[in-house]
This record gives sequence, structure tokens and C-alpha cells, in this order.
Amino acid sequence: MLMERERQEIVEYGKKMLTSGLTKGTAGNISVYDPETGYMAISPSGVGYLDTKTEDIVIMDLNGNIIEGDRKPSSEHDLHTIVYKKKPYAKSVVHTHSMFCSTLSCLNTPLEAVHYVLADAGVPRVPVVSYRTYGTKELAEIVGEQMGKSDAALLANHGMLACGASLQSAYGLASTCEWVAELQWRCMCVGKPSVLPDEEVKVVMEHFKSYGQNECEGEAPAHSYNG
Ligand code: 13P
Ligand code: ZN
Repeated sequence: MLMERERQEIVEYGKKMLTSGLTKGTAGNISVYDPETGYMAISPSGVGYLDTKTEDIVIMDLNGNIIEGDRKPSSEHDLHTIVYKKKPYAKSVVHTHSMFCSTLSCLNTPLEAVHYVLADAGVPRVPVVSYRTYGTKELAEIVGEQMGKSDAALLANHGMLACGASLQSAYGLASTCEWVAELQWRCMCVGKPSVLPDEEVKVVMEHFKSYGQNECEGEAPAHSYNG
């Protein structure tokens, strides 16, 4: 079986994504990319996270061909693929319908640096990508156009996605974004949130490179906070 370790990781994080409340039912999907083979392991479409087994994970290339697997791959495989094509350091993508990121996406409101941990996204604000039908090439294309330098994006009237140099990192960023989205929404409920200036977010991004036990080298962002 190809990509056995990655398959196991996807199964494990799928359960975590559901039980931590980051997503509901079969919404959302997870992939891990191996640049050496050019293969991506991705969760199957519409299979419950608690029922998903390693053999249900589908192995694809970035041209949309199925390399191994009997299941239908996630309907969002093009969405995952576009991120790997646009961001060479990305090795994992997590897509969720988490409540507060989805709330802001329906308000067409970007995720702002109401808290310094948003610096984990690698930008001062996480953009809202324009609405396109789920599971389409059009959605993937618009994400490719509008995500910019951010490692996360809100998907209008849909949810969010995050990428990282590992599944742990992508999942950590998805979880951090959700925490900041809830904080921003709570602030919006009672007044106008105070947002950190872009320059301060850049300072925090530098600090995050050596946060905790991190020693970040090269281009891959730290995603230090990990929710
Ligand atoms: P899949 O079950 O096909 O991965 O789709 C879930 C989803 O979130 C679509 O946007
Ligand atoms: Zn979705």
C-alpha cells in the first residue's frame, strides 16, 4: 500500500478534526503531499471520519489521476492540488467547515489580527475567497487566485482551508484560525475589534520562528502556535 504513514496520519487527524468540533459530519477533508513521488494522499468523499480506514484513503497525482484506492476521492481534490502547485513548501492541506471561520466567511469579513497568534497564517489578515460551488475546478481556481501569500483562507459561504509543511502544522493553523475567528466574532458582537497593525504582525512572525522548540530554517513558515 502506497503512502502508508500518510494514510494513518489522515485517519488520525480526521478523527481529531471531528471530535474537537472543527468540523461536522463528513464535511471537510485532509490531504498530505509527497513532493518526491508527486503523489497526494487524500481522504475519501463522504465517508465518516470515525469510519475511515487507511485503505479508504485515495492516492492521486496532481493531475487528478487516481494512483491507488477503491474509494472516490474527496470532491475537493482540485482545491488541495492547487495549494500544492502554488506553495512549494506546502505538504498538507486541511479543509474544514468550522463554525466561526464559516461565520466570518458568510459575513464576507477577513480574519483580522485581533490577537497576535494570527501571525501563524504568515500574513496580517486571512482573506475571504469569493464563493464558487463546492468540489469544482472553479473553486480551486479562485482559491489559487485569491489566497495570495496566506497559508489559510476563508471560503465564502463555505468554510476555510489551511496548509502547512506537515499535517500537524496545517491542522494547527486551522485550529488557530478558528480560535481567532471566534475571538473576532465575540468582539464584533459588542463593538469594533481592535486590530494589530501589519508591522506588529510581521514582528510576531519573526518571533514565531524561534518560539518554543522551533528552529525554522528556509522558507517553510513556523506555524508555531499550533492552536
Ligand atoms: P468530501 O466529503 O467530498 O471531501 O466533501 C466535503 C466538503 O467539505 C466539500 O466542500
Ligand atoms: Zn467543504
